[in-house]
Amino acid sequence: MQKIIIAIDGYSSTGKSTVAKRLAKALGYIYVDTGAMYRAVTYHALKNGFIGTDSGKLRDLIEDLPKIELKFMPNNETGQSDMYLNGENVEKAIRTLGVSKYVSKVATVDAVRRKLVDMQKKMGSEKGIVMDGRDIGTVVFPKAEFKIFMTASPEKRAQRRYKELLDRGEQVTFEEVLKNVRERDHIDSTREISPLQKAEDAIVFDNSDMGLQEQFERIHDFALRVIGKQQNKKDAK
Ligand code: C5P
Repeated sequence: MQKIIIAIDGYSSTGKSTVAKRLAKALGYIYVDTGAMYRAVTYHALKNGFIGTDSGKLRDLIEDLPKIELKFMPNNETGQSDMYLNGENVEKAIRTLGVSKYVSKVATVDAVRRKLVDMQKKMGSEKGIVMDGRDIGTVVFPKAEFKIFMTASPEKRAQRRYKELLDRGEQVTFEEVLKNVRERDHIDSTREISPLQKAEDAIVFDNSDMGLQEQFERIHDFALRVIGKQQNKKDAK
């Protein structure tokens, strides 16, 4: 069957990764969580004191970028991929509110984006990939065959993220999480380089009032139709 690229963009905590993972599994595709890559760079920056009030520190991060090695490796227990930073499994460490507070700032840095976008393009060179993020359908794979733009109300998204953080044992308040969701929306949509925006040819998917199963079924059906069309085009050649 013809393989395609599926680009899923959208606001934070819209459940992009949950649907993307299931979709990739059902289609036998690779799943790539690009947010994890920006989070890993941010974790590295925090650990090395590259985040501070003066912009000189971000210059130190830029200089350090060649030394940052990122890799996704399978986790046999969860059946999913974990993020490794210079050989260290940082999957848990990158999901804290501490990292969420700074990640959007780090993601505005041009040199950081160039490094990560370059890696992402290489990962999709063989197609058969589901990638989620903020600029996948617009910048990383502008020619992706299937593009989705996910959205939901900030309150619904903060509720989901709040529950996740509590389940992981983090001490946070709902207000703090909602504030972070709104702040990231603002920075992500207004930044100069590759702002979060719907690609012209993306379908909008508002899942404020939709359960996981329904979301998956709708998107899966749609993906199968797109794959079928691509196959027909190939056969007609
Ligand atoms: O997807 P997640 O919420 O984990 O992403 C964390 C942050 O990384 C986003 O808020 C955004 O600032 C940044 N990001 C980005 N471009 C991507 C993926 C994530 O700027 N493709």
